[in-house]
Amino acid sequence: MSSPRRYQHAATAGAVLLAAATIGAILHRQYTPACGFAIGMLILTEAALREHRRIRRTKLECEWARRRELGENPAPLNPCCLLARHSHGQAHDRKCTSDHSLATFIAQIEAEHGGTP
Ligand SMILES: [Zn+2]
Repeated sequence: MSSPRRYQHAATAGAVLLAAATIGAILHRQYTPACGFAIGMLILTEAALREHRRIRRTKLECEWARRRELGENPAPLNPCCLLARHSHGQAHDRKCTSDHSLATFIAQIEAEHGGTP
């Protein structure tokens, strides 16, 4: 089973190899392959950075959930959840660290309508 850390290391290694290939191609005046290697290097660099961001966010969410389970009231993460970032605050994930979670929403609806009919 692949983990985000493994993807990050593989993408980093591929980017380094493609950077070396780009330099080698330029030194041998092979500019067309150098452009292809450079594009691949940029794609793999972006992939490595994306996995790094994902790992960092997962660690922050785990630490937030751990503190919450210990009875603390940690401040919401910024952004509160990844869905809120991509929906510009219009929707929230089930793992939302703010008070926009589905459980909170359902509890609010039940409170407004008195629970069972
Ligand atoms: Zn949210």
